[in-house]
Amino acid sequence: MKNYLYITIILFSNLIIGQSKNNQNESLHVNGFYHLQTAPGLSNELYDEIYEALNNNLDLLKKNNNLITLNSSSDLKYGWPLKQADGYNYINYWLIANYFDHDEVQYSVTDYNCGQKTFDYANDFDYDSGTAHGHRAVDIVPSPYPWKIMDDEQVEVVAAADGQIILITNGNKDDNCDFNNSDFWNAVYLKHNDGSTTWYGRLKSGTLTTKEVGDYVNKGEFLGHPGSGGKSFYPHLHFEVYDSQNNSVDPFAGPCNNQIDESLWESQPVYANDDTVVNALLTHSDPPNLQSCGQTEYNLSNEFLPGSTMYPAVYFRAVKSGQVLNMKIINPYGSVVSNLDYSFQQDYQSNYFYSSYTIPESAFLIGTWVFQANFLGNVYSINFEVKSSLSIKDIIDDVFFLSEINNSKLRIHSNSLISKAEIFDINGRLIKSKSFNNNDFEIGIHNLKSGIYLINIFNESSEVIKTLKFVKN
Ligand SMILES: [Zn+2]
Repeated sequence: MKNYLYITIILFSNLIIGQSKNNQNESLHVNGFYHLQTAPGLSNELYDEIYEALNNNLDLLKKNNNLITLNSSSDLKYGWPLKQADGYNYINYWLIANYFDHDEVQYSVTDYNCGQKTFDYANDFDYDSGTAHGHRAVDIVPSPYPWKIMDDEQVEVVAAADGQIILITNGNKDDNCDFNNSDFWNAVYLKHNDGSTTWYGRLKSGTLTTKEVGDYVNKGEFLGHPGSGGKSFYPHLHFEVYDSQNNSVDPFAGPCNNQIDESLWESQPVYANDDTVVNALLTHSDPPNLQSCGQTEYNLSNEFLPGSTMYPAVYFRAVKSGQVLNMKIINPYGSVVSNLDYSFQQDYQSNYFYSSYTIPESAFLIGTWVFQANFLGNVYSINFEVKSSLSIKDIIDDVFFLSEINNSKLRIHSNSLISKAEIFDINGRLIKSKSFNNNDFEIGIHNLKSGIYLINIFNESSEVIKTLKFVKN
C-alpha cells in the first residue's frame, strides 16, 4: 500500500529575519508551508460503471441518429478546461497536482515528463498481466485556496473543445477530504468530432450545466465548478481523455509519453515543477493557514487598523533553489517601509511565502497602501487599506473596542485606564474633548456634522495611546 497515497508536502523550514531601514516596527520573519495531497483516484468498479453508462448512452444516441457527426480529418486540440469566473482576478488560479501515470509497474510512477508527479491506484493491479494502471488523468487544483474557491465558485470548469454531452452524473457528495467515501462523483463527459472523449470529474454538486445528454456545448462553455466528490482530498478537476479508439490518453506531450508525438493541448502548460510563477498575492490579518479540510476562512483581509499586524503572502506554483523573491510594503506617501529579499534555498511546488508587518499607530498613515512582489522580473502589486472607519464596521483590537451607537455616540472600551478623548476634524480643529477616569466610556457625536474625524485617546499619563479615524454619517 506504499504508494496508495502520494503525498506532496511542501515545507518552508528556513527562518529568515528581515530588517527594515525605515521602520523599527517591522518584523519579517515567518514562513509557511502549503500542503497538497493527491486524490486517491477512481476504483475499477467506478470505471466499469462509467464505461457501461457511456456505451449505453452512445448506443442510444446512435440509434436515434443523434450522435455527433465524426470528422476523420479533424485535428482537434484542447483548450484549457478551467477558467476564472467573472469578478475574480488571481494572477494565476490553478496548479497541477498530478499527471497521467505512464508506468505500469505497481507502485512505480512516471509522468509524461519522466517525473513522478502522479500516482498508482492501490486496487488497480491486474494479476493476469502483472501491470498496474496508475492515474489516467490530470488533476488541476484551483489555487491558492481550493476550498474557498469552491465555496465562492471562483473558478469554472469549461469544455476543452466543441462537443456533445454523452453522460452527466450529478447530486453526489462533493466535499470529501479523504478516500473513505463512496466513489461516486459529479461529472460531465463530452464526445468531440474527432471521436475523442473528455471527462470532467469531481465537480461541485448542483453546479453542473443544465444541458442534458445529447446537447451540444461550445468550446469554453461552462460545465460546472470544481468540487471534491468521490475519493478526493480537496477540490480539483480530474480531466481524463480518450482517443477515437477509446484508448486512455495523456494529452501532455513529453519524453515519457509514447502515446502521442504532439501535444493535444492548444498550448501545453509548462511542467508543474518548472512552472515558477506566482499564483496570487494576498494580505492576511493573521498568518495564513491552509491546513484544514473544507476550510474557507483564511484570515484574508485587505483592511487594517493603525497598530495592527498584517501578513503579506505570495503563493506560487513552484520555485527553484536560488530564485529570489522581493517583497515591498509601500505607505500612502509612496515610501517603501518594508523591503525584503528572500533567496529560496531549495525547489518547492505549491508553496507560499509570507512575512509580517506592523502598521504604525498614526492617523497620518490612514489610506491606501501597496504590497508589491517582484519575482523573476515580474512585478505584482495589490492594494490594502489602513482605516478606522466606523461606517464600515466596529473597530476591535487587543486594547480597544470602539463602537458606534445609532450614529450618535461612540462607545470606547480599553483594557487600560483612559483619561481623555479628543475629537478633531480633518483640518485638525479640536471639535470636542471629554475627560474620564475609566476604561469604558461613551462620547456623544450627535451634534457633529457628517464627515471624517479623528479621535485621540489618552492614557493616565495624558499620552495619546491611540488615534482612530471615524466617519460620521
Ligand atoms: Zn485525478
